[in-house]
Amino acid sequence: CGIVGYVGSEDACPFLIDGLRRLEYRGYDSAGVAIHGGSRFDITRSVGRIDSLAAKIGNEPKAGILGIGHTRWATHGPATEPNAHPHLGGEGEIVLVHNGVIENFQVLKDELIAKGYVFKSDTDSEVIAHLIAEELKQSPEIKDQPNMRYLSAVQAAIARLRGTYGLAIAFRDKPSLMIAARFGSPLVIGVGRGEYFVSSDASPLAGRTDRIVYLADHQIAVLTPEGFSVLHRDQGKVRVDIRQLETES
Ligand code: GLU
Repeated sequence: CGIVGYVGSEDACPFLIDGLRRLEYRGYDSAGVAIHGGSRFDITRSVGRIDSLAAKIGNEPKAGILGIGHTRWATHGPATEPNAHPHLGGEGEIVLVHNGVIENFQVLKDELIAKGYVFKSDTDSEVIAHLIAEELKQSPEIKDQPNMRYLSAVQAAIARLRGTYGLAIAFRDKPSLMIAARFGSPLVIGVGRGEYFVSSDASPLAGRTDRIVYLADHQIAVLTPEGFSVLHRDQGKVRVDIRQLETES
């Protein structure tokens, strides 16, 4: 029921855990984080409170400047550890967290199973992860636009979804690229200096940045430590308002 993400120059893990705590009020049954570990994702999931997730991670959080986190309110599949997010796609080429409900997940799942994808959870969300992995196979490398192929794969995958989604997505072979997308499930971007945050609402951002962008439906944000851009499904690149986050003094 909540999403957090970080890409920048510091370790992502402390923000993710702190941010998930600040989203606890939304309600949830399980939680998890994925940190980009350079050549693979380090994933920790746990049923129950953020405290138990934090305890599992322990005193030695996984190092990495990109990560995503999630609190889950189960809609498809019980509140178990394998069903907790983040979920990997393909053979671990991508990882994502999802809020919302994918209504046509069964059709997509059958299609992906027929193509050889192996599902590790009962969630509707895992379908999106494998779908992006499949689209990534189809999207060619574009010269001088190293992120374009990943963006195209996400766009192609979400075009096939019926239902609602807030998504934060990371890629094994792109250690400093995060993509966020929304339809019907809130997402905000926190704009820092050389670092960017993704969150379901502004509360995790307080104290980290006071500059925020509210994503609208059908918008996708592409975030790296060097900058961010927002695209709309039908309008291409859009200009967004960076708003000042009001904080209590
Ligand atoms: N439908 C997804 C699931 O059951 C996401 C639930 C949520 O928004 O937390 O895993």
